[in-house]
Amino acid sequence: MNMMTRPPDQAEREADPLDALFDTMFRPMNARGVYARTGAYEAVVEALAALISAKREADTEIFRFPPVMSRADLERHGYLASFPNLLGCVSCLEGTEAEILAMASRHGRGEDWTEGLRTADLVLTPAACYPVYPIAAARGRVPDRGYRFDVACDCFRREPSRYLDRLQSFRMREYVTIGTPEQVAEFRERWLSRATALADELGLSYRIEQASDPFFGRIGVVKAISQREQALKFELLVPLRGEDSGTACMSFNYHRDHFGTAWNIALADDAPAHTGCVAFGMDRLAVALFATHGGDLSLWPQTVRAALSL
Ligand code: 5GP
Ligand code: ZN
Repeated sequence: MNMMTRPPDQAEREADPLDALFDTMFRPMNARGVYARTGAYEAVVEALAALISAKREADTEIFRFPPVMSRADLERHGYLASFPNLLGCVSCLEGTEAEILAMASRHGRGEDWTEGLRTADLVLTPAACYPVYPIAAARGRVPDRGYRFDVACDCFRREPSRYLDRLQSFRMREYVTIGTPEQVAEFRERWLSRATALADELGLSYRIEQASDPFFGRIGVVKAISQREQALKFELLVPLRGEDSGTACMSFNYHRDHFGTAWNIALADDAPAHTGCVAFGMDRLAVALFATHGGDLSLWPQTVRAALSL
């Protein structure tokens, strides 16, 4: 790896096994966890997306979301109560031409132009499934068969890190269901076995573990314990730093009636709908594939190349 293409602070820190793959996968963009992606890396992400699409269940509605969403909607989701530290909020220079020019020209004088920023009505979307609940809510009662959605989004979480499996901006693909508790439980069971079969096809080592979300603060510890006690979240972990390590490349989530209540999504009997999702971390899966099979796609196992049509 030459100096030009080092991750921003690599020189100061201990080596990480994933660093050897940096040039194959990324180029720096002067921010931690925000990288330009190479053609080889993107070919893998596209192939993964196609493989996941091929597993889509019947009667699944597709949406692709922009990387920003309504701030009011995110507030209604309850995000600020759980992950305020991860949120990125859009802010812009607003005002008359003179006001905007006055703020922007501060930069040329070496002054702080950002003082003039005003918080906009948009946030950076932190998870691919959030925008789908208001869409479902606007339709009225959930049909008896429930809903299934296929969604994807560029997601942002404010977690700057030098490690290549922890990005601030990453792609997430999800299958989401909305329905009765039984429908959601069946959906999650089906996807636990389908997703592990997919990881097998990709030649990845993994284990499935019960998990919790990184709820913020002291009260967050209580939320995380309760989430584990109720077995609401599982993750597919791929060991990228030796046998005992594990990077979450997929998650299997049961939200109970959290979103159904927040958005008044009602079942036929007026009870709030339950929801669940399986999330595929596209960038984590791509990094896991390169870490497992090496930087040269032509040397990947034939079965893996066939599964990905590479
Ligand atoms: P969750 O909503 O379960 O936290 O995230 C869903 C999936 O998104 C994770 O299983 C993981 O694959 C991916 N993901 C979450 N955080 C990050 C991150 O910081 N970097 C990358 N590359 N992927 C992430
Ligand atoms: Zn989700």
